[in-house]
Amino acid sequence: MLGDQLNPRGGVLSGTDPRETRVLFVVSAAMLAGRPWHRQRLHLVIAGMRRMADQLVADGYEVDFRVAASIRAGVRGHLRDFDCDSVSVMEPADLRLRSSIAQWHECHVRPNDQFLCSSAEFAQWASGRDALRMEDFYRWQRVRLNILMDGDRPVGGQWNYDSDNREPPPKDGRAWPKPIMFSVDDIDAEVSALIDLHAPDAVGAPWVGLWPTTPEQAAERLAMVVRDVLPQFGPHEDAMLSGNWHLAHTALSSSLNLGLLSPAQVVEAAEAAHRDGSVPLASAEGFIRQVIGWREYVYGIAHMWGADYVKSNALDAHEPLPQALTQPEATDMVCLRSALQGVDERAYAHHIQRLMVLGNLALIVGVEPSALNNWMRERFIDAADWVMAPNVIGMTLHADGGRMASKPYASGGAYISRMSDYCKGCRYDPKQRVGPKACPFSTLYWDFIAQHEARFKKNHRMVKQVAAAKRLADIDGVRTRAVELREGFRSGSV
Ligand code: SF4
Repeated sequence: MLGDQLNPRGGVLSGTDPRETRVLFVVSAAMLAGRPWHRQRLHLVIAGMRRMADQLVADGYEVDFRVAASIRAGVRGHLRDFDCDSVSVMEPADLRLRSSIAQWHECHVRPNDQFLCSSAEFAQWASGRDALRMEDFYRWQRVRLNILMDGDRPVGGQWNYDSDNREPPPKDGRAWPKPIMFSVDDIDAEVSALIDLHAPDAVGAPWVGLWPTTPEQAAERLAMVVRDVLPQFGPHEDAMLSGNWHLAHTALSSSLNLGLLSPAQVVEAAEAAHRDGSVPLASAEGFIRQVIGWREYVYGIAHMWGADYVKSNALDAHEPLPQALTQPEATDMVCLRSALQGVDERAYAHHIQRLMVLGNLALIVGVEPSALNNWMRERFIDAADWVMAPNVIGMTLHADGGRMASKPYASGGAYISRMSDYCKGCRYDPKQRVGPKACPFSTLYWDFIAQHEARFKKNHRMVKQVAAAKRLADIDGVRTRAVELREGFRSGSV
C-alpha cells in the first residue's frame, strides 16, 4: 500500500480477506533524504501510513511496516523475509513511480481507483480534440457522472458560476470558519523522530495536527467543510487577507490526494448539501468543479503529456528562484511574506496566493520553470508530481506555450491591491512602476509584457496588454528598474 493510497476499502485491498492478506508499507529513505521537503508533508504521508497500518492490524490483517533504502528495496526485503514471489500494488498516481513499477516483475499492478476519470478514459476524451480545455472536460464529466444535472441540462441552467466568484475581501468583519485540529500523540512523536533521522534537510515548522492523517479525521474535516465552509465558499475565493490564511477555502486537497477521501464521497456530500438547501448553487458548483473538473483534468493531462512535460520552457525563462522564497523574513513585499509565512508554518497557501503571488512573481521575474515546480512540490502539503506539473508548468508559468491555458496569468500590483489588504502595510506602492517605491509586481508585469511582445501580440487574449505596454512613456525606466529587481531577487535584497 503506497503512502498516497490510504483507503482501507478500495485500491489494493479491494476484495481481500484480512485473514489471508499481509499488507506491506515501505517508507523510502531515499525519498526522505532526496529533497528539502517540508517536514509537515513528510509527516502527513508517514503518519498516514502508520495509522493505516494500525487500523489494518485491528481489522485482522497482518502488516509489514518497514523503512528501506527505496520502495523497491523494501519490496524485495519483504519477499525475502516472507518467502514469497510477488506483491500486488495499485497503479501509482505518481508519474515516475508508475513507469518504474510497471517494469518490476515482482509487482502485479491493479488499476488506480482514486479518480473518477481514469488515464485511459481521459485519453479517449482528449482524442481528436485540437485544444484540451478544462471547461469542456468538466461539462463532459458532469454529464457522464450525472452530477448537478436536471436531465440533460445543468441544474440552474448554467454550467459555471465563476463570474460570481471574483469578489474582493468582504468588509463586514465576518468570522471565517476555523479548520478543526487533531491531537498530536505518540505516533506523531515517532514519525518526527524518523524524519529527524532520515531527512536532515527537511524545512518548515513542525507538525501541530492541522492536517487529517486518517479517513475518519478526513471525514470529520469534510463534515465541517460542508456545514461551515461551503455555504460561503465561492464569492471570495480569489480574495487574500493578511490576518487569515484559510478564509472559505476547504483545505481538503491533501486528504483527497492521499486517498483518505474519495472524490465521489466529497462530491456527493456537496451535492446533497445543495439539494437540501444549505449550500447555494454557485458555491456547490464552484467546489464540485474543482473536484471533478480541475483535479481530474490535471491528473489526465499529467499522465497524457508524460514526465518530460516539466522540461517545457516556451518563454525561455532562466532566472533562479528568488532568495526570498527561502528567506521570507528578508523581503519587504508584504504579499509575498504573508504567503511564504503560510508555506513555512503549515505547508500551505490557498490557490490565489499560489497563482497570483508566488506563481505570478516567478512568471514575471522569469524563473526557470523546473525550479519553481521543484520548490512547490517540496513545500506544499498536497503536492505530487501529477498535481504540480500542469499547475506550475501550464497554468502558472505558461511554459508550455499555451498548450493548457490560453493566456499567461500575469498581473501587476493593482490586482493584488484590489483583491487583498496587503498593500496598505507595504513599503511599495502598487500604482508606481518606476523608482524605489515602485511595486515589484507592477514594474515586472510591464517589463514581462514588453519582453514577450512578439509572442503575445499573436494571442488575441493578450493583444490589449501588448498595445498598452507599447503606449507606456516610461517603458525604458520600467526596463531599468526590472533589471535592478531581478538582481535584487537573486541576491536577496528584495
Ligand atoms: Fe505586494 Fe506590491 Fe502590494 Fe507590496 S505593494 S503588498 S509588493 S502588491
